[in-house]
Amino acid sequence: MEFSGLDTKCVHSGNYVDPDVGGVNTPIYWSTSFIFPNQKGELQYPRYFNIPTQRAVADKIRALEGGDWGLVFSSGLAAVNAVFAAVLRSGDHAVFQSGLYGGTQHLVQTILTRFGVAHDIVDGGVAADFQAAIKPNTRLIFVESPTNPLLNVIDLAEIAGIGRKAGVLTVIDNTFATPINQNPIVFGFDIVMHSGTKYLNGHSDICCGALVGRGDLFQRILAAAQDLGGNLDPTACYLLERGLKTLGLRVARQNQNAQAIAEYLAGNPAVNRVYYPGLPNHPGHKIAAKQMRGFGGMLSFELDCDSEGARRFAGNLNLIKTAVSLGGVESLLCFPCETSHSKVSAEQRRKQGISDTLVRLSVGIENIEDLIADIDNALSKIR
Ligand SMILES: *Cc1c(COP(=O)(O)O)cnc(C)c1O
Repeated sequence: MEFSGLDTKCVHSGNYVDPDVGGVNTPIYWSTSFIFPNQKGELQYPRYFNIPTQRAVADKIRALEGGDWGLVFSSGLAAVNAVFAAVLRSGDHAVFQSGLYGGTQHLVQTILTRFGVAHDIVDGGVAADFQAAIKPNTRLIFVESPTNPLLNVIDLAEIAGIGRKAGVLTVIDNTFATPINQNPIVFGFDIVMHSGTKYLNGHSDICCGALVGRGDLFQRILAAAQDLGGNLDPTACYLLERGLKTLGLRVARQNQNAQAIAEYLAGNPAVNRVYYPGLPNHPGHKIAAKQMRGFGGMLSFELDCDSEGARRFAGNLNLIKTAVSLGGVESLLCFPCETSHSKVSAEQRRKQGISDTLVRLSVGIENIEDLIADIDNALSKIR
């Protein structure tokens, strides 16, 4: 049965109730061996992505994104690899948006290139640039919106339309937005990818990924996934499913907290610039308002100080920790120049707008008064 509300889907979609036992939660099936054939005549095996514990959580994510099928993986990058292996071959061409997640960029520049797939990187701001990059052998357009760390937003309906018209598959990394804030399949995207390590699980304690897509792609993606072997283990499946039950509540709170922090920062003289799609002066605000239900829990800001002042800011925070990754219940901060963009030259970083005093914040579900008090105290000490 398909439920209508997102929070209802979070709690109920996909759940597998063992009819002999009646437990309301999906069981963790640790078996790698299943009676063959089962009642449906299938061969079940964890690397076939088809044991009940895997299927339950995959179906919950599928329902949340509004797709025809879903698969869960051992990481976000395992999910990306399954897409590449399923649809690309030597001699093909792919179009990528600039500023994609660093791990995805690295995969494109190393393995994909070594396997003979050519690519172009498009600056992302305008859909027409993607159109212009399409060649006769282009098979894939891969984008992210909003992006890390400047929260650039692109028009999803336009990108999907360009792909459809040219017969090119469109894929989006929807990690930052989450299915609560944005459903790219509604706008015509073929495949949605997630690093479930972030918001979907939401508790910074498992590494996982997911794909959701449209009908006829499933067999190709599944066949590649089975050959690559990036299946998620049953306990992690269970934890991901448990985390997903509160996704709607968490993200609603994170949207609220991030908006309040962005507005607070925008009015603070110690901050030069705030990047948050929920602020009316953000370049992507209008498009974001059109295609997102909420503006998300990620924001970045530029401190008005030198890089030592920026380190002092981080050191004077008591509640918000300086740490990598994002999307958990706890608020975390990082400096993109040290993390996601550490391998980019200082000059390139400047060109991309990523200075040494740019701070990225993954906003958690704490009380907003505590978060703002923590930031306010640290900001007062940057000089
Ligand atoms: C973390 C992340 C990934 C990679 O996911 P893993 O689970 O680390 O493999 C991809 N895209 C985005 C936007 C991410 O934040």
